[in-house]
Amino acid sequence: MDNNRKGNHSIWFANEDIHDADEPYLPALLKESFLEWSAEAAGLPAFRNGLYGIYGKDAICHDTAGVDDFATKQVIGEAALHAVRNAMADEAPYYARTGSLLIAAIPIFRRKSKTLLAVFAYVAPEGATTSEGELQAHTLHYRSCFYRSFEQVYVKDILLEQQRNDREANRRDALFLAAKRLYDQIDVTSVLNELLRSLETLYPHSEVHLYLSQDYVDGDARVRPLVFKNTAHDIVAKAFLDGNPATEKDRDGNTRIAIPLSGKQAAYGVLCISMGSGKQSDDLDLPAFLLLADTAGSAFENAKLYEQSNLLINELRLINEMTKRLNQSLRLKEIFQFATSELLTIFDADYCCVLQLNAEKGLFEVKSSNIPSMASETFSPEYGFCGMIYRTKEPLIISDYWNTRVVSSKLMDNTGSRSLIAAPIFVDGEVVGVILVTHKLQNFFSYENYKLLQVMSTHIGLAVTNASLHAEVRRMVITDNLTGLHARHYLDEQIQRRQRKDPFGSLILVDIDYFKRVNDTYGHQVGDRILVQVSRIVSGAIRQDDIAARWGGEELAIYLPGVRTELALRIAERIRKQVAEETEPTVTVSCGVSEWTFDQDKVSVESLFYRADMALYEAKNKGRNCIIVGSHS
Ligand code: GH3
Ligand code: MG
Ligand code: MG
Repeated sequence: MDNNRKGNHSIWFANEDIHDADEPYLPALLKESFLEWSAEAAGLPAFRNGLYGIYGKDAICHDTAGVDDFATKQVIGEAALHAVRNAMADEAPYYARTGSLLIAAIPIFRRKSKTLLAVFAYVAPEGATTSEGELQAHTLHYRSCFYRSFEQVYVKDILLEQQRNDREANRRDALFLAAKRLYDQIDVTSVLNELLRSLETLYPHSEVHLYLSQDYVDGDARVRPLVFKNTAHDIVAKAFLDGNPATEKDRDGNTRIAIPLSGKQAAYGVLCISMGSGKQSDDLDLPAFLLLADTAGSAFENAKLYEQSNLLINELRLINEMTKRLNQSLRLKEIFQFATSELLTIFDADYCCVLQLNAEKGLFEVKSSNIPSMASETFSPEYGFCGMIYRTKEPLIISDYWNTRVVSSKLMDNTGSRSLIAAPIFVDGEVVGVILVTHKLQNFFSYENYKLLQVMSTHIGLAVTNASLHAEVRRMVITDNLTGLHARHYLDEQIQRRQRKDPFGSLILVDIDYFKRVNDTYGHQVGDRILVQVSRIVSGAIRQDDIAARWGGEELAIYLPGVRTELALRIAERIRKQVAEETEPTVTVSCGVSEWTFDQDKVSVESLFYRADMALYEAKNKGRNCIIVGSHS
């Protein structure tokens, strides 16, 4: 502090005086300064031969000092009081010798006004020589001690006030900073961390906890899940449910305040602060605390909304990508495989399994999975989670399979999975498949994951519908309506394809004998029926790989890939025999057989048909109901 300011200060507070408002503090101040005075005056002769007392405006003695063994206290007290009363009445010093005593009282006034402050009294035994002037000097000495004490108290008060103001200002700054920082955060975890950090700065000696209804910061002991156990006695639950702050005091005198953390849309949790009553405790500024909680609530909500919109954007992007990829494929197997790999990535899942309902067999078949042992497994539509979804047509989320074993599941058991999200695949409102996504950890999937899987399963369902429709249209295009055999163009395509990769193959042409006559005799409808009968016999006589088609009118063609004429002849013979035996009304067929081999000069579909046709012509000429094998090119 420089001299100039020091000088200013002394002038500044030397002008301060006692005010009426200070009266209640006067007794303590009078007594304290009297003690100081007596310590300073103890060495003087006058101090050693009499008794001094300090009296308040109300003539009450606050303290005495000096020698008092010269007479009874009673007498001294009465004499002093007498002098004090006189001095007060006259507002002037009183100095008298009565009997054996010297008694004196000198009034002390305030600095600025002539208001009585106190009376300084003196009683001494006979023979004491203390003069009035000496007593006045003592009084002045006391008065300066008094004002010194007063100034000390005054300055101390000002300093305290200053400190309080400084602390307030600091707290306001900290609050402002905290609010600003809270709004700067865009993710929920940062908002929570910032809030806890701010509270610790503002209330370093208090214990702060955050109870959250949904999210909580992993591994932070200060953040706890909000649970409702005994609502009536729990101020945290009360604050959350009422939406208002709640307080309580425990047996040790600690105060707990719970404030709901809420935004415009919802309450997210409760902020709880516990303060001890001891010296170290923080004096809580409730409005500031409320303000901070309010700010935190809004910031938290903003961050949550931001997170949600990001999630949504991300989901839309994923859905868009997946739909695009799904629609590129019209093959079911590809769709299921793509869905499996995509779902594993999107959900960061351990296992995924896509099952399709085989309506004919009444079984769910695993169509795609990243678990080798599950490949091509089948399950009854009553079994496991798949069965549950088939029954309820509802999606599922299981947070811990080990604790909530609603059904037993081979998938969960075999993989040691604990979390599951699952959704049905719908086509035309019917469950045609089920998607199961699992993870080994419990509580792994969020509600958002579960909702997203639902959306994705809808798109997978659409892709399945498209693929099924496509497959159906293709089936219609390549199938002959009446006989259910393949159409001629399909047979052509297939022979061409096989001729590119097989070493050889055979063709059988089948023509019903005198069919015109059958039509004429029994009518076209019966003719059609016979055509169907013959087609069935043909279908039944060939292997899975062989292709039977309606070549035209009442002529059928069978291509046998990888088959030489010897075997083709035997098959044709079986057909011929069966037709003759089983058709009703009975008809017979004639067949022409031809083959191709890789070592031929020119391999073609036309040549193969030409030679079979020639053989058939020969069979007709030979009298029908027989088989002729065509020449080798
Ligand atoms: P063949 O072959 O033994 O020489 O005598 P065909 O009477 O069978 O003679 P052709 O093969 O020339 O005659 C085919 C007859 O088959 C003509 C037509 O009336 C009949 N036909 C062709 N397609 C159908 C059909 O889809 N339904 C019925 N009911 N008849 C058909
Ligand atoms: Mg014919
Ligand atoms: Mg015919």
